[in-house]
Amino acid sequence: MSRQSSLLYLDGVSVSFDGFKALNALSMVIAPGEMRAIIGPNGAGKTTMMDVITGKTRPDTGEVYFDGAIDLTAEDEAAIAELGVGRKFQKPTVFESHTVWDNLELALKAPRGPFNTLFHLITGAEKTRIEALLDLIRLGGKRGELAANLSHGQKQWLEIGMLLAQDPKLLLVDEPAAGMTDAETEETAELLKDIAETHSVVVVEHDMSFVRALGVKVTVLHEGSVLAEGSLDHVSADPRVIEVYLGR
Ligand code: ADP
Ligand code: MG
Repeated sequence: MSRQSSLLYLDGVSVSFDGFKALNALSMVIAPGEMRAIIGPNGAGKTTMMDVITGKTRPDTGEVYFDGAIDLTAEDEAAIAELGVGRKFQKPTVFESHTVWDNLELALKAPRGPFNTLFHLITGAEKTRIEALLDLIRLGGKRGELAANLSHGQKQWLEIGMLLAQDPKLLLVDEPAAGMTDAETEETAELLKDIAETHSVVVVEHDMSFVRALGVKVTVLHEGSVLAEGSLDHVSADPRVIEVYLGR
């Protein structure tokens, strides 16, 4: 796929920390509307890749383009969030002393990026939007609950809902199933499939049954580069993948 027709385009991206190459000529292309799963052993560079996309880390070399034409290496973190790149970190960062509803309302009202607006009056359209988000993130019955009282998995879903309230074009999700129960992990795969119907998503995850449930193209990272790409069955059968990752 050409850069111009891609949503996210990485070509030859390298990042070094004290001489160690966390990313080593990494190239990867995500199509508009696609959901992609990224797997790979610890230290493969998955989080660093997300840091580069979101402007937290500058690549030493290589190209990073969003929406075909926007050079992300020339933008800072706030600008990249504003462009419509939403990032879900591993640790949920919801407002514990606010209700589920108020967390979503805050996110809906806030400009993209850090939440810093005060509450103001809410319109009917905004209420409808929050209702739809509550349904999507499986928390309709918890709307009046303080976020502090949610399970770990429910907090993750709430944070995903808060990111979606900002209507990102691309959602980056780093290890959403970490620390979740098996039931929550299964529900999270279903949630991401629902989200992928209307959003582009890049999800990093270790849990293989989760990746299988997503049923999307998989990119295997190893030592900062792409080792294999294709269906989970395809990459799982690749001897190099078995050697570095699945066979351990
Ligand atoms: P993954 O998310 O695939 O487990 P990371 O992207 O977190 O891998 O890390 C890739 C490599 O880069 C690791 O060896 C890690 O120790 C190193 N690394 C990541 N961030 C930094 C940093 N800020 N300073 C030094 N080394 C780092
Ligand atoms: Mg990581």
